[in-house]
Amino acid sequence: MPDPHQRELMLKQDMAQQVGGRVELTAAELQLDSLLHRLKLKEMAASPFPPAHHFFKVRHIVQKSPVFKLLQKMPKGAALHIHSSAMYALFAMGMLFLETTGCAEGNLMRNLTLFTEDPEKSYPTQDAAWDRFEKIFLALSGLITYAPVFKDYIYQGLKELYEDNIMYLELRVGQSKVGREDTGRSIWYFRDALSFPSELKTQLPFFFHAGETDLDGTDVDRNVLDALLFNTSRIGHGFALVHHPLAKQLSRMRGVAVELCPISNQVLRLVSDLRNHPAAVLMSDGHPIVVSSDDPTLFGTTGLSYDFYQVFVGIGGLSANLGTLKELAMNSIRYSSLSLQLQDKAMTVWKEKWNKFVAENS
Ligand SMILES: [Zn+2]
Repeated sequence: MPDPHQRELMLKQDMAQQVGGRVELTAAELQLDSLLHRLKLKEMAASPFPPAHHFFKVRHIVQKSPVFKLLQKMPKGAALHIHSSAMYALFAMGMLFLETTGCAEGNLMRNLTLFTEDPEKSYPTQDAAWDRFEKIFLALSGLITYAPVFKDYIYQGLKELYEDNIMYLELRVGQSKVGREDTGRSIWYFRDALSFPSELKTQLPFFFHAGETDLDGTDVDRNVLDALLFNTSRIGHGFALVHHPLAKQLSRMRGVAVELCPISNQVLRLVSDLRNHPAAVLMSDGHPIVVSSDDPTLFGTTGLSYDFYQVFVGIGGLSANLGTLKELAMNSIRYSSLSLQLQDKAMTVWKEKWNKFVAENS
């Protein structure tokens, strides 16, 4: 019979490797951790188990989940991957637009979201989902860049994040290219333009979307390597990263975090059951990861709590614990583009909030 002590040692080593595996928890944190564990076990035994289903079909179940409610209260640090055109809850945004313009277009809200009760029928393929996504994105950009709406839109968007206990946001603007990578040009195609800043000896940090695909061996799939060649600061999505051990190793060594947006990946049909999301491999390997929501307006989410829920309950499974959540929240500050000095300040503020959250919920 194999030595039970050896087994225990192996299990410990295995756990220590995962995201948050080396985080030392205080007595109060351990108490909250066991509460979360119990709640998660209950949720896993129930049917339907939300991460296994299309988010649109189970959102109402997630909203009632005690784990989700705790995650809403949890200080999650920063949101590092949200697009400016789709940051704000749709209902509120529609109201804002109607109020500001006096326009009474009844179809407005229905036409500005991917949300539907029968997603498999409405978007049977990646093409169908992306086609609708791009149309809405274009319409949204047109609406919010209407000056009287824009100011309130940004304010309300920030308020919504604040209410979800997010303390800092890096919004995608400027040259950030949203859209389906599979049908666009690769990073390598733009190599001349992208080399321009370094040729001028200027520091211009890049934040590429890369590898938002399930098509192995394509140019888009290789974007994860090219993003690293151009010294990207983080990798947006990196869905394809686990297919490229070298890129995975490089991003880990250089501290290039993957911006994990699980609900976006599911709605855009890269994965259906989130327990099978490739980030499960990155998580058990302790890879630098931050959690974000990509386009909350389109996916019917607010803040980061929904995506944290999917990461904590679905992708991370029973191994994900309070240490995982703590590390993910701290990662969002550590891998932000704030200066080191501001990161220290943000971390101090976050820690105070975190300790309060633990004390109030353990
Ligand atoms: Zn994005």
